[in-house]
Formats: sequence, C-alpha cells, structure tokens
Amino acid sequence: MKSFKRISIILLAIVLSLSAVGCGQKNGENADADTPNKDGQVKEEVYDVVVIGGGGAGLSAAIEVKGAGASVVVLEKMAFIGGNTLISGGELNAPETWIQEKLGIEDSIEQYKEDTLKGGDNQADEKLVTVLANNARSAIEWLRDEVNVSFKEDYLMQFGGHSVPRAAYPEGGSGDELISKLGTKVEEMDIPVRKQTKAEEILTDESGKVNGVRAVDKDGNEIIFKANKGVIVATGGFGSSLEMRKKYNPEYDERYMSTDQPGSTGDGIVMAEELGAALIGMENIQTYPTCSPVTGVLSYVADTRFDGAVLVNKEGNRFVEELDRRDVISKAILSQTDGMGYLIWDTTVKNKSHMDNYMKEFDQLVKQGTLIKADTIEEAAKFFDINVDQLKETIAKYNEYATNGKDEDFNRRGEIIGLTEAPYYIQKVVPSVHHTMGGLKIDTEARVINNEGNPIPGLFAAGEVTGGIHGTNRLGGNAITDIVVFGRIAAESVLK
Ligand SMILES: Cc1cc2nc3c(=O)[nH]c(=O)nc-3n(C[C@H](O)[C@H](O)[C@H](O)COP(=O)(O)OP(=O)(O)OC[C@H]3O[C@@H](n4cnc5c(N)ncnc54)[C@H](O)[C@@H]3O)c2cc1C
Repeated sequence: MKSFKRISIILLAIVLSLSAVGCGQKNGENADADTPNKDGQVKEEVYDVVVIGGGGAGLSAAIEVKGAGASVVVLEKMAFIGGNTLISGGELNAPETWIQEKLGIEDSIEQYKEDTLKGGDNQADEKLVTVLANNARSAIEWLRDEVNVSFKEDYLMQFGGHSVPRAAYPEGGSGDELISKLGTKVEEMDIPVRKQTKAEEILTDESGKVNGVRAVDKDGNEIIFKANKGVIVATGGFGSSLEMRKKYNPEYDERYMSTDQPGSTGDGIVMAEELGAALIGMENIQTYPTCSPVTGVLSYVADTRFDGAVLVNKEGNRFVEELDRRDVISKAILSQTDGMGYLIWDTTVKNKSHMDNYMKEFDQLVKQGTLIKADTIEEAAKFFDINVDQLKETIAKYNEYATNGKDEDFNRRGEIIGLTEAPYYIQKVVPSVHHTMGGLKIDTEARVINNEGNPIPGLFAAGEVTGGIHGTNRLGGNAITDIVVFGRIAAESVLK
C-alpha cells in the first residue's frame, strides 16, 4: 500500500503538470495540436515518436527519445503508469556489476547468456539474448545514474536457473522504486503522458510506413497521434487476457488466475498483427509457482523460498528442488494433492529474507487463511491438515542435509539452512499465469519483423510485448533487464 501511495502522489504531480501545460502540448516541439473540435472532428497531434504503453519499457524508451532531442508522447490506457513493472519485484539481472564485485561474486556476460539460453530450453533467439547480456550492465547503471533508482548495495537475489546471484534488488523490493523514479524523470523532461488513452490502431502512409496511432481517450474521443519518425509498441504481455491465453495455449484456461495487472491484454500484438507483424513463441506462457490460492496474486512473502524455505505437499514430503525453474516447480505443485504446495520456513530463514518488507501482504495472507505463524511445526502443519509425523521426519532429514551441506534428495543449489528456530511459518501456494514469453518478432535493433522476414518501416517494439528473448521459459529477473535494454534500443533505432 505504501508503494501505491507513493506512486499516486507522483501520478497526481504528473496529471497536474500536464494540465498546467495544456495536456502536454508544450512538450512536443513539433506538436501541432488542434483544439478539440466540438463538431466531432478528430483531434490530431504531431510528435517525432509515439510510445504505446507507459510501463517500464515505454518509459525507458520515451526518456531516451527525449534525451536525444526528439519529441515524444506516451499513451497509457490505464489511469496510472507502470503496468506490470509497477507491481513487479523490480529485480533485474546483470553480470559483472558493482554489486557483484562488492560481494565477491564471479560472473560473466557469457555465463549469464548461457544460463538464459538454457533456461529457455535453447529456444530463444541467440542474437537477442546476446544483446540482452551485453547490455544488461549498462542498463542497470543507466537506471542508477540517469534515473536515480536505488539498489540494495549488499544483496543480490539468485532466481531459479541462474548459476550465481545476479539480480539487483531495488530499495523496498518493488517495481515502485523503478516506476516512481522513471515517472519523475519523465516529468522532469516534460514528456507528455496521456493516461486513460487507449491505442486502438497503428497507422501507416501509402507506402506502408508506420506514421501514427489512432487512440481513444476516457471520454470516447478519437485522437490521431502522428509520428514523424515512428511508433514504439510497449504494451506488455497478455497474461490478463483469458481469450488470448486460450487461443495460443489452451492449457492456460480458467483454471489459472493471473499475477498480472488488468491492462496486460496483448493489445500491441493484435494491432501490429494487423500490419503483418510476425509472432513468435506465443504458446510459451509462464506460471509463477508461489501465488495466493485465493486471489492468484504473486506472493512476495513466499520469496523466502530463495532464502531457504522448503516446499512440501499435504503428505508432508518434499517433491521438487525449491530453486528449480518456475515451470518445473509450477507443474510439480499442480500434480500434488489438491494442486497445492506448502512452503515452510523458520525464524532463521525469515531473518535472512526480506519478508519484513512485505508485512502488509503477510497480514492479508493470514486473514485469507493461507499463511500461519506458529510456535511449533505440529501446530502449523495441523492448521493446513498436513501429515504432521511425515512433515517432522522430512524436516529432520532436511536439517541433517543442512549440517552436511548436501541435499541428497533434490540437490538444492545454494546454501541449505536447517529449520530449527521457532516460530515457524507455513504458507499455502499455487501457480498463477505470470509472464507471456511470446509476442512480436523483433530484430536486434528492436524493429518489428513482418511475416516475410522484413522490418516494418517505422515500427519498433520493446518489453513483454515482444517474443524470442526468453525462449520457452523466462528466468526470474530477466524481464526487467529485457524491458530496459530493448526500450533504450528501440529509442535509438526509431531516431536513426
Ligand atoms: C507481480 C509481478 C512481479 C514481477 N516481478 C519481476 C521481477 O522482479 N523481475 C523481473 O525481471 N520481472 C518481473 N516480472 C515481470 C515484469 O514485471 C514484466 O515482464 C515487465 O514489467 C513488463 O514490462 P513492459 O514495460 O513490457 O510492460 P508493462 O510494465 O506491463 O507496461 C505495459 C503498459 O502498456 C499499457 N497498455 C497496454 N495496452 C495499451 C493500449 N492499447 N494503449 C495504451 N496503453 C496500453 C498497459 O496498461 C501497461 O501500463 C513480474 C511481473 C509481475 C506481474
């Protein structure tokens, strides 16, 4: 809630500043806006670049476009900026960073690239992954130096599938740190952001070059945003569109809830497809393994998994390596009794984790009846009707593995921490649809490619709306890296 309060203050500031300058007209040097016509005439505004989507990719792109001296407008269909980036953990991977250096972690661009390719079952476009890996460090430095994002200086996360800890952790452990700072930068640069303005169609001239966007504002007025140089599509994924999920992979039907914000409905994919854009990997839909069984919302409390929590089933047995890939853990959970998993941790793990950052969520989970804190393992297990004797045996065995430093059942990577210090916690978790790996096919310059294999003139895309970067499975922390790296590249390319 604290995050949302902060972001709403920033949003309010943006709204006020836009109205003070006539809804941002001052900002587009080339802007040539007509006054809204009461006779029903369509209003037209002219910019160098139109960015569709005010999430992390769109805002990064807009900042770089404006920084290069061109005029730009951001269209956002929701009443707030941020998209999934806002509600994300905001953690992003980069090798060879100053934080890894401080922590003495050896890593390399090559290793990061290898992990990413392997994590996506070697189905990703290697050229795009190379660009991601080569530019990850400069992306995080850009966020730190140009956008003023604060990162924890003495901590890195190691998401599943990564061979070393390499995910930088923004202050507060939330994408709010990213979006509030990107939003502030956008405001300082006088970049107009049109909220509640939904892009409905990407326009082209007679030669087929993209030259604008037709959008509709909250009052139903149509507006044409002309783009002299091009359009950047940054509309995010389609995790919230049940229809698209079912169209591209019937497995992800009503049985799954979603971690995504309601605006993630694949609009950019549909609009670009109308211009002949090629799609790639649309069937690759990722679930996040540890979400609320009541709301489907991703649980940050359950990130204790990365710091030592153990995953068991109703029978009190472990059934998967806790740091395996998301798809592996998700499938494993779904095949347990009731399709549920139970994470158990103790006070040592709690203290090592960042659980205290998420106490609002913690209280909600307790209210939902999906989390229990108890003085003994028995008490916690009974709350969920978990087989107490078997669970105690499982934990006793796991504690021996912790003493010997080797998990003989699932070969858990990283440090193994014995669960011995009361109070104990058990949380009930299910997988939810989380990320859509497929989308618009782009090249290394973020140009959208058509079905004939050629770039569509004037059309660029960045972020979750694109496909090909994560193969069949995105590794944790790679989406935020992706949106900043390719958002910035799209900005550079559209101005070429
Ligand atoms: C709960 C959660 C936690 C996550 N945590 C992490 C993490 O820690 N690290 C990581 O790497 N990844 C994480 N991810 C994934 C990551 O957040 C997303 O993949 C990424 O933020 C997508 O950024 P984007 O800019 O492409 O899209 P978004 O941030 O979703 O922005 C797209 C924007 O476009 C707008 N839009 C859509 N259609 C239109 C239209 N027609 N007209 C105008 N506007 C439109 C949307 O409303 C939205 O604001 C998480 C995702 C979720 C849901």
